[in-house]
Amino acid sequence: MVRGIGASSGIAMGKAFVIPTWEWDFPDKLIDVTDLAYEFERLYDGIRSSKDEIRQIKEEFVNVLGEEQTQIFDAHLAILEDPVFMNEVQGIMQRQYKAAEVAVKETIEKFVNMFDLLDDGYMKERALDIKDVGNRLLKHLLGALEETLPPKDEPYVLVAKELIPSQMVHLDVNQTLGLVTMMGGKTSHVAIMARAMGVPYVVGLEEHLATPIQTGDFLIIDGDEGIVYINPSETVVKHYLKLKESWRQEQDQLMQLADLPSQTMDGLSYNLAANISSIKELEQAIVKGASGVGLFRTEFLYMNRATFPGEEEQYEVYKEAAEKLAGKPLVIRTLDVGGDKHLDYLELPEEENPSLGYRAIRIMLDRTDLFKTQLRAIVRSSSYGCIKIMYPMISSLEELRRANEVLQEVKEELRQEGASFKDDIPVGIMIELPAAVMISDLLAQEVDFFSIGTNDLVQYVLAVDRMNEHVAHLYDPYHPSILRMLKMTVDNARKQGIQVSVCGEIAGDVRALPLWIALGITDLSMSVASILRVKSRLIQSLSTDASNMWKQLSACTSSVRVLEVLEHYAQNEAVSPERLRDVNESGGANLDVPRSTSSCM
Ligand code: PEP
Ligand code: MG
Repeated sequence: MVRGIGASSGIAMGKAFVIPTWEWDFPDKLIDVTDLAYEFERLYDGIRSSKDEIRQIKEEFVNVLGEEQTQIFDAHLAILEDPVFMNEVQGIMQRQYKAAEVAVKETIEKFVNMFDLLDDGYMKERALDIKDVGNRLLKHLLGALEETLPPKDEPYVLVAKELIPSQMVHLDVNQTLGLVTMMGGKTSHVAIMARAMGVPYVVGLEEHLATPIQTGDFLIIDGDEGIVYINPSETVVKHYLKLKESWRQEQDQLMQLADLPSQTMDGLSYNLAANISSIKELEQAIVKGASGVGLFRTEFLYMNRATFPGEEEQYEVYKEAAEKLAGKPLVIRTLDVGGDKHLDYLELPEEENPSLGYRAIRIMLDRTDLFKTQLRAIVRSSSYGCIKIMYPMISSLEELRRANEVLQEVKEELRQEGASFKDDIPVGIMIELPAAVMISDLLAQEVDFFSIGTNDLVQYVLAVDRMNEHVAHLYDPYHPSILRMLKMTVDNARKQGIQVSVCGEIAGDVRALPLWIALGITDLSMSVASILRVKSRLIQSLSTDASNMWKQLSACTSSVRVLEVLEHYAQNEAVSPERLRDVNESGGANLDVPRSTSSCM
């Protein structure tokens, strides 16, 4: 049994498919001059097999990815035919009597270093291609048996050193039983996507793994406990089969709550909205009774393609989403790339600290061409439903005002073109930087709503990279500093009478529910998989103790204490009929809370 970090709940059981990292370690072998001809023969065989394999992969993926996306494989074939690359390999073998694999390895290193030194994104990409193709060739030369593709018809548990969001987009949910990665964090975007897909996921195994997991190993993943079993005993398998069955039954029971109102027992209504990144997820959200979409992460429309999506393409997606929601709110967040979300075709400078770097609104305010294209698509789709615009990573009034100026320009252009759209689209911002919290009194005067993004807020307040498994134990959304920031934001929003919601991952954590009651937050937006679990807890809760609760929570000196107080309230909410009668007789909930996602203003 190996312990990691549980990043997406549920239990998965099945055979591992390990994505090879291809980091070879072999001796610097010399050959005899009489073996040279044989060594060349080996090299040519290796090249032939590599080419066959690349052609086969291209054929398999062309239907899934399309012709344009599979051009990369043509580039790989071209490298294996490139005379400069091949002359270098042959030269090392002939002049230095080195074995074929040693010559290939040295050639890869030489070209990769050369291209990497150039300050040119295109050449850096080529360096990656050479590494990829060279590694494939090495695999054939060394006779390594790793498979490079997951089996097509068999389900598998995907194991990798690291996954990136653009790889996740291609995973077939029906085949991917679970995910295990050596690196990564609980609030990384890969983890968020795994939760959205309902795929159990354990991250951060690296340090605890004595021997690497092999393709074909039988794995059990416990995404709640963050545990992975490798080739477990029959007793463990039996235990998990039982757990899996009760987990499935719990899901069935939760589904029965989908159409019930989201209300505490004493009548305080909540809006439990969904965080989505695609129409597919929106459909799931609707099935689970979401009150709307509190966060549409639009960056996923921009991934796994060769160019930016155009205005028309985006417009169609936003319009479809608005129509599917039939009047329920749809908060569209403008492009939030950078950090762990990367676009192959958007050349961004190499950065020491990507999370503190060039990302989100910072890019869009420079690349107003991209910003305007997206805003035009959003504004045009506003006639089809209840659309709201949200800017990510706002740190100052200037940024907000500049973004709004671009929005005004877009509206003016559309007006002159005679396009129809709603003129009063609500505009809000993510509160996810400490700076935004500290000036939330000023920001609140110029926006229609706040949405608190605790995923980034926690990383910036505590200086803990949300992607880094080595500091994952310090990533703490219940830290007293975060509670104070939430309170400050809510108070400032309330003073201006604007709406405030929470859309970070903590919104979907059932343990936090008494905290929302204490703060008077009734709008939450969470990953689709969490909606019914939160609802199930909510409908057993009472809201009458809010101010007392906050008094206790704000006096906590540590997150351990915060969690104890929350737990205490959660237990007290297993309400007795007598207590409920008392509450009803005293008039029930009377919180004066501005709502966000339920109304279109
Ligand atoms: C957040 O930062 O809390 C958030 C919701 O945005 P993302 O996770 O996409 O950065
Ligand atoms: Mg964020």
